Amino acid sequence: MQYEAVIGLEIHAQLLTESKMFCGCSTKFGSGPNTQTCPVCIGMPGVLPVMNRKAIEYVVKTGLAMNCEISPYSRFARKNYFYPDLPKGYQISQYELPLCGHGFVEITVNGSSRKIGLTRIHLEEDAGKNIHEGAGNESFVDLNRAGTPLMEIVSEPDIRTPQEAVEFVKKLRAIVRYIGVCDGNMEEGSLRCDANVSVRPAGQQELGTKAEIKNMNSFRFIEKALEYEIKRQIKVLKESGRIIQETRLWDSNRGVTESMRSKEEAHDYRYFPEPDLMPVEFEQSWIDEIKTSICELPDIKRARYVKEFNLPEQDAGLLTSEKAVAEWFEEAVKSGGAPKSVGNWMMGDLMKLLNEENRQIEECMLKPKQLVDMLSLIDKGVISGKIAKTVFEEMYKTGRDAGVIVKEKGLVQVSDESEIEKAVDDVLANSPNEVERFKAGDAKLMGFFVGQIMKATKGKANPKIVNELLRKKLLG
Ligand code: ADP
Ligand code: ZN
Ligand code: MG
Repeated sequence: MQYEAVIGLEIHAQLLTESKMFCGCSTKFGSGPNTQTCPVCIGMPGVLPVMNRKAIEYVVKTGLAMNCEISPYSRFARKNYFYPDLPKGYQISQYELPLCGHGFVEITVNGSSRKIGLTRIHLEEDAGKNIHEGAGNESFVDLNRAGTPLMEIVSEPDIRTPQEAVEFVKKLRAIVRYIGVCDGNMEEGSLRCDANVSVRPAGQQELGTKAEIKNMNSFRFIEKALEYEIKRQIKVLKESGRIIQETRLWDSNRGVTESMRSKEEAHDYRYFPEPDLMPVEFEQSWIDEIKTSICELPDIKRARYVKEFNLPEQDAGLLTSEKAVAEWFEEAVKSGGAPKSVGNWMMGDLMKLLNEENRQIEECMLKPKQLVDMLSLIDKGVISGKIAKTVFEEMYKTGRDAGVIVKEKGLVQVSDESEIEKAVDDVLANSPNEVERFKAGDAKLMGFFVGQIMKATKGKANPKIVNELLRKKLLG
């Protein structure tokens, strides 16, 4: 029997507001424990929450960017549970009336596109952090994160493979970063993903029982955890077992998911409307204003790159995956670079160098105009494409212009025919056997001769002239 996996994701994204959701405390990451707290976020009795308008704006912005309907009327709810990192004994969240619903994002896997539905996007406050490491027999609670605005994006169970799940999270991450509402940092936990997974016999409509997987803090782990979990569930069913509805933790060291607890139901939380906050009602003009503030999004940008710059889909996808990369590309094209060559240098040499140092393109000393200047040195025949690699790396490391580097290091391409002819003659004189074989019909040896001449001239000989001279001398 063939089985099919069904996956629905819940993404938590920390919003990039300066202050917390219901008080004025800072949301900055990395300060000393409990230094960013006040009576509201540590849950003192008698205090009242005040809504952060920016946080609501960010969720609406996200909803619009993800094709959602914005609810004209929504409200907050109390989700009651006890945990040491939740001093109020309840989390202010949204339940029956979220800010956004009925959206979708499009993903592309193996060249074909699909829409993944979004059930809802709601706003809630984050909890604090319990610290167990390095504390002997004690545990500590840091409430700096308590009350930080958190947006939860819930997908429909539309995802079918681990690969699609990864593409979905990548797309969400790209969008929230494009519109500037979340930094998308998965390692620091500003973007967290929980996955709901079930399997069913292929062709069956009804959904199977799901397990929820937590603790996957990278794209690779999402893929690995889902692959493992799908296999596990299929095995259970094949052995006539039953899937238990539960929460499972991904253990990245061992590469397995493990049962953590049986799944709590919504009614366990005793949700009720938050009595300390007014419902949220929007004026259409505010929503329109937010809509116009949204920049060109990755999908639209990608399509435009294909059309306007004649780039292959895949190049366009890579160049638009990050807003800063796309901006760098467009600036280079604006300063006169040919889109295809600019793209090639960015996706090849530039990305490689950035990845080696784990750097963002914004932190790069090399500016788009400098790449364009180097490209025109290649076009004019001043440097060869091979030498350009060296020049590029030097530009990247020092931020200096190609012209300066070329002059200083004596990398100018040699186009003087008599100088090249000397090298050609030397190489041919030193390789009598190869010359003979070439004349006997081994045409592949042309590459050998070119290679030897380039080596002799330290890569500086103009390849076009080298080829012409070789042909003349060997073929007469
Ligand atoms: P719960 O009540 O357990 O929170 P929800 O219906 O709210 O479940 O759905 C939570 C997430 O789980 C959503 O992303 C949804 O798409 C997904 N989901 C729901 N049922 C299934 C299923 N049977 N298999 C896989 N994913 C599911
Ligand atoms: Zn506070
Ligand atoms: Mg639910």
